[in-house]
Amino acid sequence: MPGFVSAFPQSNPVPGGIVLLPLNNNHIANSARYNKKKLAVVNNGKTQYLLVGLSLNTKPGAHHVKIRNNLGEIRKLKFRVKPKTYKAQHLTIKNKRKVNPYEKDMTRILSEKKRKTKARKSWTPEITQTNFTVPVDGRISSIFGLRRFFNDQARRPHSGLDIAAPQGTPIKAVESGTVIESGNFFFSGNMIYLDHGQGLISLYAHMHTISVKPGDKIEKGQLIGTVGETGRVTGPHLHLAIIANQTLVDPLLFLPQLSKKAAEYYKSE
Ligand SMILES: [Zn+2]
Repeated sequence: MPGFVSAFPQSNPVPGGIVLLPLNNNHIANSARYNKKKLAVVNNGKTQYLLVGLSLNTKPGAHHVKIRNNLGEIRKLKFRVKPKTYKAQHLTIKNKRKVNPYEKDMTRILSEKKRKTKARKSWTPEITQTNFTVPVDGRISSIFGLRRFFNDQARRPHSGLDIAAPQGTPIKAVESGTVIESGNFFFSGNMIYLDHGQGLISLYAHMHTISVKPGDKIEKGQLIGTVGETGRVTGPHLHLAIIANQTLVDPLLFLPQLSKKAAEYYKSE
C-alpha cells in the first residue's frame, strides 16, 4: 500500500520471539500445530511460511511443529530455541489501586480476563498480510519481555512494546483486520483487539479515544483512536501487543523498520 513503510516479520527463535518455518508443496499448510495450537500461514513473495509464536516460558533447546503432508502422514518440522534473558524494570505507579486492586475491583478484573482470553483465542481462516506498519510516531519507552516491578512488587513481564507520544496522537492499524474486542479495562485502559486472521492479533492499550467498534473492518494505516494514559500507566503512550497462536510475542520482530529507534532505546537504558 502506498504511503506506508511496511515490513515482513523477522524470525528470532528465543523465548518471546517468533519462528518462520518455510513450507514445501507437500505440506498441508493449514494442518500445522505447535503445542496443539493452530498456526498462521504467511506469504513473503512466492514462499509460504508457518508463523510460530514462542511464549516467554519456552525452554531453550529442540522444538517442533506437527504438520500433515499430502500422503496423510504427520511430519515434524524441527527448530531450535536459543536462550534469552530479559532485564528487570522498576516502575512507580501513583495510583496504588492499579497495583493492589481493591476487593471490589476483583469482579471486574476477572470478567475482563475472560474477555481478553476469548479475544486471544480468536481464529478466522482469512489469509492475512503480515507487512506491518508503525502505529504511532513516537519514542520507544519500553520493550517486550522486561521483568516488571510496580512499586517494588513483582508483576507479569511486559507483554508489549511501548511507544511514548503526547495524548491525542493518532494511532493507526498495523495491518488490515477486524475489530474483535474494545472497551475500558482496569489495567489496560481503553483497548482494542484487531484480528488479522489465522490467530494473528494486534492489541492497542491505554488509548485516550477509540474511534472504531467490534465488527468494523479496518484498513492498514487507518486511524483507530488516539494515544492516552488510561489504565495502569506512568504517562501517555501506546502499548502495542502482538498475539500469534494465542501467544504474546515481541512486537519489534514485526516492525523491523523501528530498529533505529530500538537502538536509541537500548542506548538510553
Ligand atoms: Zn506496555
